[in-house]
Amino acid sequence: MPVKGNMPVEGEKILLLLTPGDDCKLLALARKIENRLEPRLDERLERAYRTRYLHSDALIAKLLAAFWVAINLFFVYVDFLVLDGGPLLPQSLAVRGILLVAITAYVVRLGRSVSPAQYDRLTFLMWLVAAACILFLQAFLRPPTYINYYTVDILLIMSIYVVVPGTFWNRVIPALLYTAGHFAIFFLIKIVDQPAIVLIFVASFLIVNIIGLYFSARYYTSRRREYLGRHQDAVTRDKLAELATRDELTGALNRRGFFRRAEEEFAVRALDDSPLSLFVIDIDHFKAINDTFGHHAGDDALKTFSAHILDIIRERDSFGRTGGEEFALLLPRTDGEKAVTIAERLRGQCGRLFEQSTPPAPAFTVSIGVAQAQPGDKTVYDLYRRADKALYQAKNGGRNQVSFSAGQ
Ligand code: GH3
Ligand code: MG
Ligand code: MG
Repeated sequence: MPVKGNMPVEGEKILLLLTPGDDCKLLALARKIENRLEPRLDERLERAYRTRYLHSDALIAKLLAAFWVAINLFFVYVDFLVLDGGPLLPQSLAVRGILLVAITAYVVRLGRSVSPAQYDRLTFLMWLVAAACILFLQAFLRPPTYINYYTVDILLIMSIYVVVPGTFWNRVIPALLYTAGHFAIFFLIKIVDQPAIVLIFVASFLIVNIIGLYFSARYYTSRRREYLGRHQDAVTRDKLAELATRDELTGALNRRGFFRRAEEEFAVRALDDSPLSLFVIDIDHFKAINDTFGHHAGDDALKTFSAHILDIIRERDSFGRTGGEEFALLLPRTDGEKAVTIAERLRGQCGRLFEQSTPPAPAFTVSIGVAQAQPGDKTVYDLYRRADKALYQAKNGGRNQVSFSAGQ
């Protein structure tokens, strides 16, 4: 998704990824407002952020819903007082019943696992139903003389803003609709002709919306930033850990990185008893390459060789630089016979590698010692020692060859 616009805080553009598209103008405006007040993270991070908080958010939303169930039950008593057993009482109780069913269904549904998008839809719907029921009660199921003091409604709006997380418009729309409904009742249905009361009423609703909108947007933006910060720390830690196990010159694993991976693979092999083979590879007469063509040419040969191996190995194979011009290649699920075939092919390719590389690397050959893990091996170092011994034989046999160590 392309990034457009500017974040209120420098350097956190990743927080601004709701891009106004070419769709309808109202939608574009809504997105712009959201970007300005409570920018989302990029799509993947936003999903991870929401999922991370979903459990605790749903818990708070359920507690809040339960709280409003209690308030609703309490108001049944108020209904008896206000309606005094009149004809509106059964209707009023029926609407409260609908409200109770809606809230209970919401709580029960949230009790099962939901995705962030489902949470948003359910929460949005629940507050819309709640707002519609309460507005209907106040507009039509109260005696014309009854003027509500609206304190509970103000609290309800506040809790929608602050306690109900989800996305920006999932909070703002129910709160604004609820406010608009009250204004409609106040100015169209139960017209009050005392200016002071009108003023206090309008001011209270405006203030609660402004405060709720401002603080909820700030709170959820800072929560996203905190999440982003932690995410970036984790990424940096992973990168550092990766750097600590990589050889800078060749991109292969360094000795530590290689043996760590090798130990893991060795442990897996012990569990599933699959074959595991190891090459110890040494470039022949490397000193002569350095002496003849210079250290840079030697480096190029090391890089060309490593790049080739990294290019051809499977994902689970581990390739490391274990010394100056000495490398190790671990092949899980590969027996000795197959490993020797692969090693022979690799040895043949090395003779032609210098032709393919830019800048051209000096021609070189390799000797390879191959060993397969045996039932008696206690650690991966037992396997490594045998492969190293095989390498020694290959060197003694005249170099540019593969030697296999069959047993203990
Ligand atoms: P052999 O066929 O017996 O393996 O002979 P060799 O010359 O390859 O082996 P030797 O151990 O005598 O020499 C290895 C040379 O590798 C010596 C060292 O200067 C060189 N070397 C080690 N690390 C690097 C490096 O990072 N870059 C370069 N250019 N040379 C290196
Ligand atoms: Mg060598
Ligand atoms: Mg060597």
